Amino acid sequence: MNQIVLGIFNWYHKNARNLPWRATNDPYKIWLSEIILQQTQIIQGLNYYEKFLENFSSVNKLAKADEDQILKLWQGLGYYSRARNLHKAAKIVSTQYNGSFPTTYSEIIKLPGVGEYTASAIASFAFEQAYPVLDGNVFRFIARLYDIDLPIDEQKNRKVFMVLLNELMQNQQPSTFNNAMMEMGAIICKPQNPLCNVCPVQTFCEAYKNNTIAIRPVKNKKVKVSIRHLNFFFIEYNGGFYLEQRIGKGIWQNLFQLPLIETKSVIKTPDISEYLKALYNYNIKSVIEHHQSVRHLLTHQTIEAQFWRIKVDQKPLFANQNTVFTNLSNYKNFAVPKLIENYLLLL
Ligand code: SF4
Repeated sequence: MNQIVLGIFNWYHKNARNLPWRATNDPYKIWLSEIILQQTQIIQGLNYYEKFLENFSSVNKLAKADEDQILKLWQGLGYYSRARNLHKAAKIVSTQYNGSFPTTYSEIIKLPGVGEYTASAIASFAFEQAYPVLDGNVFRFIARLYDIDLPIDEQKNRKVFMVLLNELMQNQQPSTFNNAMMEMGAIICKPQNPLCNVCPVQTFCEAYKNNTIAIRPVKNKKVKVSIRHLNFFFIEYNGGFYLEQRIGKGIWQNLFQLPLIETKSVIKTPDISEYLKALYNYNIKSVIEHHQSVRHLLTHQTIEAQFWRIKVDQKPLFANQNTVFTNLSNYKNFAVPKLIENYLLLL
């Protein structure tokens, strides 16, 4: 075995974190953990992983669930398209594969929400197939180990890293190899202040020799962030309030939110009645109070949210057919985005 891999394996066997999805080769559980852990910290993901398995112990049970139930369980994790794809993929496995997870990389990667990384993870962890995983941790570790100055966010450079990983892996213990590479990136070769003094491959590390650790990996693109002004209305009527389901594409698809008006810029209290009249057929006597302004950061969007509290003495007519009447004791039955939940928890 290559000396670099030997060093990493020895370190991994002594230091690996005890994570439940590492103690199984069940492809359903591995797939579930991988989808949950995309863009999610392990500590947070752990609770969701357990919650999903408690509710859906098999892919067939997940396939039969209502989407609302899945979104509700997913609440707080963000990137809700992952949850919808999870459901779609479960239905495909349940119907086209009779509930047995597909066993080849080429079949796995066709499932909704599964990209190269996730397909490699499932193929290696569940079936010991030699597909190296290349996530952010592995990119960073390899970029430093070989002192690679190619931008990691350019797709064409991916194959350079894959060639190196395949050479290192050499079809040996793919599951241990992938876990160990990711764990090295997460625990030793961290983005800031990597633990070079205890690194098992320090003597092989080119970035350490060349003093380039701080500038590896190289990234080119800057994420473009757009600003959106969302005005939410807590409309109080007869002891309750209203939630509407988001039906279009985009953020929070199919989740429930307070009735919303999106504007191009910040709006002030005196203008609110005009907006409400136009959009909610809302020509009734009401009390309007500006309640809260919150900045909510998503990867590609900054949401400037304003919350308005409105007391009405007549039932409003909503254009959105998917509007429901609820109250502060029962709204938790609906999947709502974190931003809305945080507001409702204050009331
Ligand atoms: S020596 Fe430092 S920079 Fe190099 S692989 Fe180890 S932790 Fe990363």
